[in-house]
Amino acid sequence: MTTSSLAGAGAVDSLALSVPTGLWIGGRSRSASDGSAFAVLDPATGEELAQVSSASVDDALAAVDAASGAAAAWAAVAPRQKAEILRRAFELMIERQEDLARLITMENGKALADSRSEVAYAAEFFRWYSEEAVRIQGTLETAPSGANRILVLHQPVGVALLITPWNFPAAMATRKIGPALAAGCTMVLKPASETPLTALALVALLEEAGVPAGVVNVIPSKRSGALSRALLADERVRKISFTGSTEVGRVLLELSAKTVVNASMELGGNAPFLVLASADLDAAVAGAMVAKLRNGGEACTAANRFFVHRSIAEEFSKRLADAMRALVVGPGLDAHTNIGPLVNDETRAKVASLVDGAVGEGARVLVGGHAVAGAGSFYEPTVLIDVAPGSAILQEEIFGPVAPVVVFDDVAEAIRLANATEYGLVSYVYSADLAEGLRVSEALESGMVGLNRAVVSDPAAPFGGVKQSGLGREGGHEGVLDYLESKYIAVSW
Ligand code: NAP
Repeated sequence: MTTSSLAGAGAVDSLALSVPTGLWIGGRSRSASDGSAFAVLDPATGEELAQVSSASVDDALAAVDAASGAAAAWAAVAPRQKAEILRRAFELMIERQEDLARLITMENGKALADSRSEVAYAAEFFRWYSEEAVRIQGTLETAPSGANRILVLHQPVGVALLITPWNFPAAMATRKIGPALAAGCTMVLKPASETPLTALALVALLEEAGVPAGVVNVIPSKRSGALSRALLADERVRKISFTGSTEVGRVLLELSAKTVVNASMELGGNAPFLVLASADLDAAVAGAMVAKLRNGGEACTAANRFFVHRSIAEEFSKRLADAMRALVVGPGLDAHTNIGPLVNDETRAKVASLVDGAVGEGARVLVGGHAVAGAGSFYEPTVLIDVAPGSAILQEEIFGPVAPVVVFDDVAEAIRLANATEYGLVSYVYSADLAEGLRVSEALESGMVGLNRAVVSDPAAPFGGVKQSGLGREGGHEGVLDYLESKYIAVSW
């Protein structure tokens, strides 16, 4: 692999995109009140891409002032007009897909093909919620006593705090902004500090599409703990939607309890990938490559544990290792790259320590198993077999291109192993017997299942987890309900 610099300082300026580097509050870009800023780095080289303003608590509260000031007018905008603004935002994202994809790769590291897919996926949330904005319905029924009518309508929940991770800097933002706009909410978005540039490019694009000033505010910051404490103590903030680790989600839920804030949590995963004895092996290996390596393995939906029936385990593992060996690891902007660098050295060190720990407990490496020497946070695509059941690599999110394979003998055992985790985001099942596949899908403790399918994410479907993978759903019709309150009016006429 090569580690030549394809991005680096100044690269952002070469894009035909407006990428503000200040805080976006009330429709304009400005510096932090105390002048703080932080560096955004290119994970392929370690070079600085830009300095971005770092919001203070005062700035965060100014963003709530802006969102709160814009709330009544945005809620009153006609659904059709909201829909047309969202539709325009979708179109602008598609027009600028290539430059947005390059920006994502520059700050996140992922291969350009992954970034292009992310932009297309992210834009779909604006299209889907442009279609949902005009379909927010209520109900009218007669009370069982016959004495009155029960009228139920939906109103925006209020100012929403949106906090997003670095692994899908565009899609995790649009998956929240789209339904929040459709519901009539105004918002303050705090993007991850590794990847703030994509969120800033998106807010500029949204205002170009017609979103009024103050409706979407973006506050990058290196002080996320202090900001969230202040924001969740402010009674004007009525909603938090967080995507990130379960650990941080727990902290935010505690803070939300004090002001009884409506909370949606999209948290970590530990996805099992079950290959049953009847599975079509070609399809299972192809699916495993996608479920494991989409986004270089840095996805909450990434297959984390492979449970394979003994009769096919050796063949499956060998084919998976062969497919991984053929991948090109390199800078995300290089056209030949399949796997870019991990987002930073800390993430890579965690992946390396999980692999080393598993090997120390007896796992065998079929391919990979090492960090790539030299500049950039690269890690080799890796397949491990004979992984000890109690290994940390089976308990924790790997968040890297590593596939641990565990052999099972009967389906009940596979289900028990798959469910032996605090997480419950997504599971994958490969089986040529549809009835068996559906039975297993029902028994798996996760909010989503891919049955003979490695991609579950779809703006038209409810995405989310059970157990400690989260609360609430994003996408589908459920996604907009998360930003609405039901109001019941008892009417006599
Ligand atoms: P993270 O460390 O939890 O950070 C996520 C966001 O929370 C970032 O914006 C971060 O800001 C902020 N944050 C950190 N500490 C905070 C605090 N005390 N108060 C308020 N905000 C705080 O997660 P990550 O490493 O960015 O993302 C990876 C995780 O996200 C994985 O666990 C993955 O499974 C999960 N994820 C889940 C989904 C899903 O839909 N379920 C989707 C994607 C990712 P800073 O960057 O400034 O620290």
